[in-house]
Amino acid sequence: MDVLLTEEERMFQRQMRDFVKAEIEPCVAEWDRRNELAFEAFEKMASVGLTGLTVPEEYGGQGGSLMDAYLASVELARASISVASIIGTHTGLALGGLYRYGNEEQRRRFVVPAAKGEKLCSYALTEREASSDISRMSTTARKDGDEWVINGAKCFISNGDRADIILVFATVDKQLGNKGITVFVVEKGTPGFSVGKVEDKLGIRAESAAELMFDDVRIPVENQIGEVGKGMRIALSILDEGRLDVSGQGVGLASAALDAAIAYSKERQQFGQPICEFQGIQWMMVDMANQIDAAWLLGYRAARLADQGQRFSKEVAQAKLFAANTAMDVTRKALQIHGGYGYMKELPLERYYRDAKILEIYEGTSEIQRLVISRALLS
Ligand SMILES: Cc1cc2nc3c(=O)[nH]c(=O)nc-3n(C[C@H](O)[C@H](O)[C@H](O)COP(=O)(O)OP(=O)(O)OC[C@H]3O[C@@H](n4cnc5c(N)ncnc54)[C@H](O)[C@@H]3O)c2cc1C
Repeated sequence: MDVLLTEEERMFQRQMRDFVKAEIEPCVAEWDRRNELAFEAFEKMASVGLTGLTVPEEYGGQGGSLMDAYLASVELARASISVASIIGTHTGLALGGLYRYGNEEQRRRFVVPAAKGEKLCSYALTEREASSDISRMSTTARKDGDEWVINGAKCFISNGDRADIILVFATVDKQLGNKGITVFVVEKGTPGFSVGKVEDKLGIRAESAAELMFDDVRIPVENQIGEVGKGMRIALSILDEGRLDVSGQGVGLASAALDAAIAYSKERQQFGQPICEFQGIQWMMVDMANQIDAAWLLGYRAARLADQGQRFSKEVAQAKLFAANTAMDVTRKALQIHGGYGYMKELPLERYYRDAKILEIYEGTSEIQRLVISRALLS
């Protein structure tokens, strides 16, 4: 597949692979056991510029493409989806939105320190009663002189408990539905802002998912991102970029699971021969490899379209849907090939299996991806 990449992209992919092997892989099992956001991972990624990968150099970033972001996501997820999610949320969701929709002053205030890794970002859209259908959002923003006053709560926010800069979606008028949604920046330490429950999750245990509370949080009007009422459009366009990262996460995780299954099947002997000699095992691995390659290609197409400035909402929904399904299927088969040993904590297979499920849920469930794709097919 590498033949489809430019020389620079291949070089970047190799650098990422080396970085992940040396700096991330040795720590991921411990980070998973600790069951809290692995802030060291964020610091390590900042040290190699990943915190500002797709941000132009004049704003403290690396000036990379969305193809670079996709390739980085694949490599990081080979070691840990948690780690890929920390950076995907920071760079793909929050910073991507802040850079694209922020004005010059906002880029200087928020994008530059975040791109340099001095500040961690999160993206707060979901609420208890408004998630797949965000038009039912009940977090409000009321204008009071030269301030906005935010009230409400968000849930399941990745990086939320440690974030310095939070991109918050709130409605200026609930009666307006989607047309009332507007985007704001709330900074850690602002009076009235607090972190609530940090969830105990099935998987991606080295990434956090936190409840964020806003109780008469006053922010200057300068913290409004984009126009009033354009928040829904902004949220969806940011999610396109985020879904590209998630599709990379599925490919990376599934690739790691297949590699482990191939290696184990050559070592493990049953009935007097390595289990890789059994056709039943071989065919499972063939299906896994085919799914992974197809998932990679769907993500690759979406990334190329995005970098060419073309619409890619349908293509990235296809990539995310297929990669999530692939990760679920491949991690299940890889664990099966390991038999009982795959079920034990000593090997990473059980973590792969637990982690895969999130790919069918966050940044739009698989049902919502199908909705996006079917609407495009029928339009
Ligand atoms: C670990 C984790 C991290 C997250 N990180 C973030 C984050 O950083 N920021 C953020 O804003 N959110 C985040 N989320 C929220 C996530 O995006 C939502 O959980 C997701 O959008 C689904 O919403 P829900 O859980 O409320 O499910 P619901 O919307 O209640 O859906 C329940 C079920 O109904 C199905 N469904 C809903 N509508 C339809 C339909 N029209 N047709 C068919 N089926 C439908 C869904 O697919 C699902 O199966 C995170 C979630 C998790 C679990």
